[in-house]
Amino acid sequence: MKIALVGIGKIARDQHVPSIAASNAWELAATCSRAGRVDGVPAFTDLDEMLESHPDIPVVSLCLPPVPRFEFAKRAILAGRHVMLEKPPGATLSECHALEDMARKAGVCLFASWHSREGARADAARDWLADKVITRAHITWREDVRKWHPGQDWVFDPGGMGVFDPGINALSLMTKILPQPVHLKSATLEFPDNRQTPIAAQLDFTDGVSADFDWRQTGPQTWDIEVWTEAGKLHLTDGGEHMMIDGVPAGQDPSLIGEYPRLYAQMADLVAQSKTDMDLSPLRHVADAFMLGRRVPVDAFHF
Ligand code: NAP
Repeated sequence: MKIALVGIGKIARDQHVPSIAASNAWELAATCSRAGRVDGVPAFTDLDEMLESHPDIPVVSLCLPPVPRFEFAKRAILAGRHVMLEKPPGATLSECHALEDMARKAGVCLFASWHSREGARADAARDWLADKVITRAHITWREDVRKWHPGQDWVFDPGGMGVFDPGINALSLMTKILPQPVHLKSATLEFPDNRQTPIAAQLDFTDGVSADFDWRQTGPQTWDIEVWTEAGKLHLTDGGEHMMIDGVPAGQDPSLIGEYPRLYAQMADLVAQSKTDMDLSPLRHVADAFMLGRRVPVDAFHF
């Protein structure tokens, strides 16, 4: 199936282009980006022009930051294309609901992709927890914003979500593996003096679930979820790549290696089955944190 990539930046180059190239299901037939290009692929700078001149491309994958994404998604849907959204699926819940309505009316598939849900042990963790009684859980998601978003000021602009840009990955995994939904009770958000979004956050959910997000970590990065149950402790590390039950490694590698290859396989399935997958629960938790969070000023941040 032919696919077009929109927004050729860090994640498009790191993950989308190689995953499409490695797949038998997909052919990268065009790109649309103001400056970004992929060698050997027809490049456009205007989305409408690309859609009009390529009626043969049924699927568009959007790799832009969240704020500009809505307009691109809307235009692609109204032009009758199936759309895959990078995480988070939008800058607000309302615009995501609006896209879902548009997609249903247009009869096209819409996929809110959550790459961390495709961690190698995410399914195994969900399956192991399915019948357990959970006593508490803690998420530690600490990474270096300078490494993952070098110079990307948009992450600190309104709608950029700050530390919730990676934190929402943890929340996407949490909402996948916990057998019962939880909701936020309180939060503390640390805002650098010179920025519009938080650089760190501590969250307290119902049922003894807590989270610690921080973007100031240097050295080793930490993407861990620990879940204590009456039948033992589950520990997911490296964003869901590895799992231990009571300290013993558990789970097996899926047949298809890599989060993004698995996302693109899912998109192919959704299109084949004419389905939409638009689970907004991770974004809802982020919205709750901005509504409930106590704001604490911290040192200014400069890239
Ligand atoms: P990015 O490199 O800053 O942006 C991607 C591209 O989008 C840019 O190179 C730019 O290409 C285009 N763009 C940026 N702002 C735009 C605007 N206002 N209007 C139109 N086009 C615009 O960002 P990224 O790191 O790839 O992240 C994009 C999305 O992927 C985010 O939602 C992020 O959460 C997600 N993601 C990122 C990572 C990561 O490691 N960085 C990992 C997983 C997921 P042109 O200038 O050529 O138009």
